[in-house]
Amino acid sequence: MKIPINLKAGSVDKEEKKEVIIGIDLGTTNSLVAYVDGTETKVIRDAAGSNALVPSILHFSEDGVVVGNVAREKLISAPERTIYSVKRLMGKSYADLESLKASVGYNVIDQDTEALVKVEIDGKYYTPTELSSEILKELKSRVEKHLKTKVNKAVITVPAYFNDAQRQATRDAGKLAGLEVLRIVNEPTAASLAYGIGLSKDDEQTIVVYDLGGGTFDISILQIQNGIFEVLATHGDTHLGGDDFDKVIIDYWLTQSNISSAELNQNKSLGQEYRTEAEKAKKAISTVGSYSTTISNQELHIDEQTFATLAKSLIDKTLNACKLAMKDAKLKNEDIDQVVLVGGSTRMPIVKTAVSDYFGQAANDSLDPDEVVAIGAAIQADILAGNRKDLLLIDITPLSMGIETVGGLMDVIISRNSKVPTRAGRQYTTSVDGQKNLKIAVYQGERDLIEHNRKLGEFILRDIPPMPAGIPKIEIKFILDADGILTVKATELRSNVETQMEIKSAYGISEEDMARMLIDSLQNAESDMKAKALLESINEANNIVMATDRFLEQNKDALSEEQVTQILALKAELQASTKGENKDSVEAAMQAINVYTEPLAHEALDRNIGKALKETKL
Ligand code: ADP
Ligand code: MG
Repeated sequence: MKIPINLKAGSVDKEEKKEVIIGIDLGTTNSLVAYVDGTETKVIRDAAGSNALVPSILHFSEDGVVVGNVAREKLISAPERTIYSVKRLMGKSYADLESLKASVGYNVIDQDTEALVKVEIDGKYYTPTELSSEILKELKSRVEKHLKTKVNKAVITVPAYFNDAQRQATRDAGKLAGLEVLRIVNEPTAASLAYGIGLSKDDEQTIVVYDLGGGTFDISILQIQNGIFEVLATHGDTHLGGDDFDKVIIDYWLTQSNISSAELNQNKSLGQEYRTEAEKAKKAISTVGSYSTTISNQELHIDEQTFATLAKSLIDKTLNACKLAMKDAKLKNEDIDQVVLVGGSTRMPIVKTAVSDYFGQAANDSLDPDEVVAIGAAIQADILAGNRKDLLLIDITPLSMGIETVGGLMDVIISRNSKVPTRAGRQYTTSVDGQKNLKIAVYQGERDLIEHNRKLGEFILRDIPPMPAGIPKIEIKFILDADGILTVKATELRSNVETQMEIKSAYGISEEDMARMLIDSLQNAESDMKAKALLESINEANNIVMATDRFLEQNKDALSEEQVTQILALKAELQASTKGENKDSVEAAMQAINVYTEPLAHEALDRNIGKALKETKL
C-alpha cells in the first residue's frame, strides 16, 4: 500500500494525485495524443476543438521549427525546409532509402552509406530522431496546455513491423522531447484495445485488425481470452499506404498532361502541388465520386470507376498479406469474430468493401479510424499507471532472430511469431582446437543462409580457456523484452566466461527488404534447403578432415606407409569435394574415407585398450 504524505504540510493527503500518462500515435502522416480521464478516454483536439490530427510535418522557418498544419501549408512554397514522412527515416541508413530520396522535397544527406540518415536544412543536419522529437514536443505541449500541468510519461505506438533500431529511435525521440517512454506498443495491439474488446473478463474473441494509414499497412490477428490479448500473427507492407493511392492518381494525371515524371521530380514545388491535389481527389472520390482541378493550366479529372481500377492492385496487395497472416495463424474466415478497420485510408469505400468481402463479414468501422491507435495507446498507458490491473498484453515478433553458425547458416533462436516478451537459448561449441574468441553474429530473417537475412549486430566472446574443438559449452541466450529490444548473452559454461550485448543496430531494415524477406523465404524454400544441406555436409566433411589429421598424428607409429598414403589421398579427395557444389560427391567422399578408416580406427582402439591394460598395475 502507498500512503501519500504531503511533505510540506506534514499531513496525509486524502486524495492521491495520479500522474497522467499519455498515449501517442506517432504516425507517418498524422500524429495525435490521448489520455484516460477516470473512465473516459480523451483525444486532445486543436484550439478550435475540432481536429485531433497533427500532420507529422515540420517546417523550419527563421524563427524556429513549427509542426502540424502550419508546416503543411509550407509544403509547396518551401519544400526544402519542410519535412514529412520522418517515420520512414527512423532507424534507417542512407543505403536503405535510395528510392525515398528521389520522392521527397527535402534534402536527405548522403554522407556514408552505412551511417544513419540525416536531413539537411540551411546547412544544419538533423537526425530522424531529432525531427520526430519535434512532433512529440508539439503533442506534449498540446496536452500540457489542455491539462494545465506538466506531462512526463508516455506510451508511443509503432507499426508491428518496426525492428529494434526503429523502436529504439522512437524511444530516443521521446527522451529528446522530455518524455519517459514507458512502453512501445504495436499499433494494431493499441487499436484492438481501443475497441474495448476483451476489457471484460469473460469476453472471448478472435479479431482481425486491418490498418491502412498514409505510409504503412499492417494486418494483425489477435486472440482475446481472460483479458489477455494475444497476437496470433502479423503481416503487412511497410511501404504501402494512402500515399501510394495518391501516387496512382498522379501517374494517371501525368498520362493526361504533357509533363513527364522526371520533370515532376525535378520541379519540387510542382511535385508537391500534384501530391496535394491527388490526395484531395482521393478524399473527394470517397464522398462525391469524382474530382476535377487545374494545375499550371492543365485541366485534370478523375472519377470513382477509374480510381477503383487504378487502386485495385494496391488493395490486392493488402488482401494478399491478409491471406498470409490467416495462414500463419492457421485460421479460417469463420474463426474470425470481428474485423476492425484502422487508419485514414480505410475511409475509402473500395477498401471497406474489399476487406468486408474478403473476410465474408462487414468490417467494423464504428470508431474514428484516425483516433483508434491513440485511444488504445492511452488505454495502455492507463494499464501501466496501474489503473487496470486485470489486463496483460502479449505481442509477437514479426521476423525470426538467430545467429550465424559454421558455413554461414542461420540458426534460429527466437522464431517468427513468437510471443513477446520471450527468452530462448541454445548451446554451441567451437570448431577449432584451442579457439580463444568466438564471434557471435545476430541476424533477423526467414532464410536458411545468413547472407539473405539482415544483420542486427555482432560481438565477440573473448578469453575462452584453450580446449580442443567441440569441448567448450557455449550457451547463447536471446532475451526479447516487451518493447522488442533484444539482448544477446553468450556464456562459456565450463569457464563461466560471459559477454552480452543489447541490439541497437546501426540502421534498420529497408521498407522493401522487410516485405521481400518474407516473400523470398517462401519462394526460395526449396533452393535454400538444398544450399543448407550442402553446407551441412561440408561442415561434417571439415570435421572429418580434422578428425583424420588427429588420427594420423596419434597413430603414426602403428600405421603402414601404404595406409598413410591411402588415408591422405582420401582426405585430399574429400577436401576437393567440399570446394564444389555437389552434395552427393561430398557425401560419397565422406563415405569412402569412413569405410577405409573404420577398421583402422578399431585396430587403434584395441591397441590403446591393450596398452592401457598393460599399464594398469594390479
Ligand atoms: P498514418 O497512420 O500513416 O499517420 P493515417 O491513419 O493518419 O496515417 O492515415 C492517413 C492517410 O489517410 C492519408 O493517406 C490520407 O490521405 C488518408 N485519408 C484520410 N481521410 C481519407 C478519406 N476520406 N478518403 C481516403 N483517404 C483518406
Ligand atoms: Mg496510423
